[in-house]
Amino acid sequence: MSDPHTHRVIPLQDLRPSALALPETALRSDLRITASALLADQRGRNLRDLRISVTDKCNFRCNYCMPKEIFDKDYVYLPHSALLSFEEITLLTRQFVAHGVQKIRLTGGEPLLRKNLERLIEQLAALRTPEGQPLDLTLTTNGSLLARKAQALKAAGLQRITVSLDALDDAVFRSMNDVDFPVADVLEGIEAARAAGLGPIKINMVVKRGTNEHQILPMAKYFKGSGMVLRFIEYMDVGATNGWRMDEVLPSADVIRLIQSELPLVPLEPTQPGETAQRWGYADAHGCHDPSLGEIGVISSVTQAFCSDCNRARLSTEGQLYLCLFAEKGYDLRSLVRGEATDADLANAIGHIWQGRSDNYSELRQAMGPDTGLPVKRVEMSYIGG
Ligand code: SAM
Ligand code: SF4
Ligand code: SF4
Repeated sequence: MSDPHTHRVIPLQDLRPSALALPETALRSDLRITASALLADQRGRNLRDLRISVTDKCNFRCNYCMPKEIFDKDYVYLPHSALLSFEEITLLTRQFVAHGVQKIRLTGGEPLLRKNLERLIEQLAALRTPEGQPLDLTLTTNGSLLARKAQALKAAGLQRITVSLDALDDAVFRSMNDVDFPVADVLEGIEAARAAGLGPIKINMVVKRGTNEHQILPMAKYFKGSGMVLRFIEYMDVGATNGWRMDEVLPSADVIRLIQSELPLVPLEPTQPGETAQRWGYADAHGCHDPSLGEIGVISSVTQAFCSDCNRARLSTEGQLYLCLFAEKGYDLRSLVRGEATDADLANAIGHIWQGRSDNYSELRQAMGPDTGLPVKRVEMSYIGG
């Protein structure tokens, strides 16, 4: 058998799995689950956060997400008719919100590639929670089209934005996006987002040992005191195409140690339950957090599982509901929306699906070790979004 630490194994398989059958109870009118923010899954976790993938396409080929060898010119993307329309997304989102979702993140693929995305943002921005509050509406982007689109996104009702940026060094950045895209254009996009008022801006940096760990300190220095929150993400074993290896993961503890060696940090309390990032603030000369210097976050999905309060659901580009980033399959909500289902049917189905949820992949991986037979037919990140 090949040693996973010396050979990159990229299994060939159908990257868009067939859907799971809906739970038998999902459509039964005698077992109606009325929409309620108290909806809890098998581990007592409420549904609060919905990530919506609006396209499976991307103009980058980050090798940890859409490696060129797989996502090449022959790769077949979803036809437009398979994508949820903006009206279908809004219809479904309304039922998720009735069940307690307060935060919506648009993602992909690269969400800014979806034509007229502003129209969707307008529709989602008009939704209200049962208490009458607007949703926390945000979007994750590689930033390549942001300079052009920031103003229109803000005008449509987008509140905040997260920009992925793995390096400041142009050569490193070009090689990580693998399409030779210059870092200056992303930095320009970030400035445009700031000028448009899409704040507070978060910056996501995936750290790969041996690839960009030397960019950690330059990135920390660049964003310190900028009002933007830089978050370091452990390279994850999402999908099945990126040839993930544990020895390429740089644990968040090492990231913090490295930054601490030059820029003193103090731990900060979480701001809300289910927060994925652990927060650290830049310290002043007395060792206290100085808010004017800002903060960073570390997302330790590999070394410190946070499944116990995971309140996120994911809606794929073609309308499948995934209950975990590492799930093998999702539930087909598109067929319901395109069928005869009423709003009450949709709420009922979402309620039953969430109630049956027991996923805790990262906890299992942490307990068992990464190479111990956990499912490898995981869905691709570019298909359900980060
Ligand atoms: N294209 C957009 C972008 O890059 O921001 C949105 C979609 S991307 C799938 C969402 C986030 O997932 C990005 O911040 C990206 O860096 C992160 N991501 C993708 N693959 C990852 C991996 N293997 N490990 C950790 N994070 C990953
Ligand atoms: Fe595209 Fe985002 Fe994946 Fe990079 S991380 S390939 S930008 S979807
Ligand atoms: Fe949530 Fe699954 Fe990640 Fe655990 S592994 S935090 S259940 S998405």
